[in-house]
Amino acid sequence: MIASNFHTHTTFVDGEHSAKEMVQSALLKGMHTLGFSEHCHTPLDPDCSLSTEQTIQYCQEIARLKEQYAGQIRVLCGIEMDYTSVDDPAAYDYVIGSVHYLVVDGVTYPLDYSPEKTLECVNAAFGGDFDAYAEAYFETVSEICEKTQANIIGHFDLITKYSEKGVGPDPTSPRYIAAWQKAMQALAGKAALEINTGAMSRGCRSTPYPAPDMLAYWRRLGGQVVINSDSHHKDTLLHAFDTALQMARQAGFEQFGFTDRHGEYHHQLGEAK
Ligand SMILES: [Zn+2]
Ligand SMILES: [Zn+2]
Repeated sequence: MIASNFHTHTTFVDGEHSAKEMVQSALLKGMHTLGFSEHCHTPLDPDCSLSTEQTIQYCQEIARLKEQYAGQIRVLCGIEMDYTSVDDPAAYDYVIGSVHYLVVDGVTYPLDYSPEKTLECVNAAFGGDFDAYAEAYFETVSEICEKTQANIIGHFDLITKYSEKGVGPDPTSPRYIAAWQKAMQALAGKAALEINTGAMSRGCRSTPYPAPDMLAYWRRLGGQVVINSDSHHKDTLLHAFDTALQMARQAGFEQFGFTDRHGEYHHQLGEAK
């Protein structure tokens, strides 16, 4: 059993429970480590990211919980930095680097807001060409480690969030495949790739990010993986981790975890209470 999760949101931004409630739930689940990764200050989306003032409160609250629950559960203060976020990665235990928006000709398009918004972006900015949309997305993703000093690459194929609803790129398109493979080549060895079950817990997808062929390719590149729930609710901290683990093992992975900013490797298996 995996008893840790490093992708967790709270009421500081768009989560449904406070950081303390998340820690208490993690304890009830027998978890040994809970890493928080609130949405980093992102000026182009103030509604869905920490303000500079909230950033201070967030860090203080996680530091307080770290101390309060020491000896019972390990609490880490991470951050989910978007490609456009503005903050110092050195202030955190680790960084999840994610791409949530494309900015084309000065217009900001959110990638994971709704199928309608996705179509609006593909039509308005890419002339209806999903391959061009995917190429722009994966080109941005390929720079996420340089941009955010990421330790973990967040939801690598986020643009497939609505594929099961009929809105998304064709996964068999040669241009699509070339785009994600090129991004993986650029990212290999720089950070752990996240297997993310968040969209499953929110009813958008029946499988985790990323797609199995991407995982298999990442394995061939010698990449590392970490299993995360991208949880916004106290009951989903370990959501579908069995499915994620099975998928990762099918792709050939035997080790799960990531290395934080302090150089410590967080092992996900074999440490359960
Ligand atoms: Zn995200
Ligand atoms: Zn997230």
